[in-house]
Amino acid sequence: MENYDYLIVGSGLYGSIFAREATDKGYKCLVIDKRDNVGGNIYTEKVEGINVHKYGAHIFHTNNQKVWDYITQYATFNRFTNSPVANYKGELYSLPFNMYTFNKMWGVVTPEEAAAKIEEQRKEIKGEPHNLEEQAISLVGRDIYEKLIKGYTEKQWGRDCKDLPSFIIKRLPVRLTFDNNYFNALYQGIPVGGYTKMIENILEGIEVRLNEDYLEKKHEYDAMATKVVYTGAIDAYFNYSLGNLEYRSVRFENEILDKPNFQGNAAVNYTDCETPWTRIIEHKWFEFGKDEYGNDLPKTIISREYSSEWNPGDEPYYPVNDEKNGVLYKKYRALADKEKNIIFGGRLGEYKYYDMDAVIASALHIAESELK
Ligand code: FAD
Repeated sequence: MENYDYLIVGSGLYGSIFAREATDKGYKCLVIDKRDNVGGNIYTEKVEGINVHKYGAHIFHTNNQKVWDYITQYATFNRFTNSPVANYKGELYSLPFNMYTFNKMWGVVTPEEAAAKIEEQRKEIKGEPHNLEEQAISLVGRDIYEKLIKGYTEKQWGRDCKDLPSFIIKRLPVRLTFDNNYFNALYQGIPVGGYTKMIENILEGIEVRLNEDYLEKKHEYDAMATKVVYTGAIDAYFNYSLGNLEYRSVRFENEILDKPNFQGNAAVNYTDCETPWTRIIEHKWFEFGKDEYGNDLPKTIISREYSSEWNPGDEPYYPVNDEKNGVLYKKYRALADKEKNIIFGGRLGEYKYYDMDAVIASALHIAESELK
C-alpha cells in the first residue's frame, strides 16, 4: 500500500492550500473528495461559456495583503465589484444603503437631508428594541425596513421579523456617500477563468482522487498516511454521536435563458415578502458578460436562490451561530482534541462561517505551524 505523509480530506480551498504548502515543502500528499469535482463550495462549472457558481455566488474580497499575494500566484482576478440591486415590487434600489438608495426612496439630494430623514424615522422606537423589527427600525427607520429589510430577512429565516431576536442585526451600515461597492475591500474580484481553474492551479502535480468518501473507508485511508487533514463536517466524523450540528440551507434553481441579458447585474435581491426567492444571480456578469476570449455571450444563466430549512443529509451551507449549536460544537471540539494525528480545519471541520480569505489565512497559518 502506498504511503503518504498527509491524507487531505476535502479539495476545497482549505484542503487544497494545505496540500500545496505540504507538497512544496517535500511532503507526499493525497487529496480525496467525496464529490466528483474539486474546489468544494467555490466550484464553478462552465455552461454555455459561462462559469456557473454551483454552490452559491462567490466574490473574493480581502484586506489581507498576505492572502492576496498568496492567492494571486494561482489566479489573475478581474475587477468585478459587488454592487447588488434590491428589487421591491419592481422598484429598484442600490445596495448597500447609500445616497443612491436614499435619493430613490425619498428624493433627498444631500447627505444632511438623508441623515435627517433616517433620524426622524428612527425615533419611532422608544427604549430597548424587543425584536428584529424594532431593532431595524431603530437603526434605519421604517421605510428602509419595510422595503429593503423585512421581506428579505423573513424569507431568509422563515419567520416574521417580530419573532426574530434583535441581536441578529447589530449594525446596519448607512453610507451617506454615493458608494455602492458592497464589500469595500482593498482587493476584490473573480478569478479569471473561474474558481475551478484556480483550484486546479493550486493542486497542480498533487494526487487527487474524487468520489471517495473518507468516512466510508476510514481505516483503510488512515493506514495510508502518517497524518490526516480533515475538512469535512466535525459531527459526521464522530458519527453524530452527540447529535447533529445545524445549518441553514439554500436551494438553487438554475435556468439557461436564450437572451443575452436578464437583469443587467450579477445579483438582484428580492426584498418583498411575496416573491418566493431571496435573490437571482446572473452568473455572466461576474465576468462582464464575456467568455474567456472576450466575446459577448449570446445566452445567460440565472440562479434563483431560496432559503430553506436544513435537514440532516442536506448540503450544509451556513453554520447556525446560536448558543445551542455553539455548545454542541465545543463538545465535538473536545473529542477532536483527543484524536491523534488529525487536523480539523475549514468551514465544516471548525463549524464556522469563513469567508474565502479567512479560510486561506487559516490554512496558511496551520501549514506554517505544522510543516517544519
Ligand atoms: P468546502 O469548500 O466546503 O470544502 C470541503 C470539502 O470537503 C468539500 O469538497 C467536501 O465534498 C469535502 N468532504 C466533506 N466530507 C468529506 C468526506 N467524508 N470525504 C471526502 N471529502 C469530504 N466567501 C467569500 O469570501 N465570498 C463570498 O461571496 C462567499 N459566498 C458564499 C456563499 C455561500 C452560499 C456559502 C455557503 C459560502 C460562501 N463563502 C463566501 C464562503 C466560502 O464558500 C468558504 O470560505 C470556502 O468555500 C470554505 O472552504 P473549505 O475548504 O473550508 O470548505
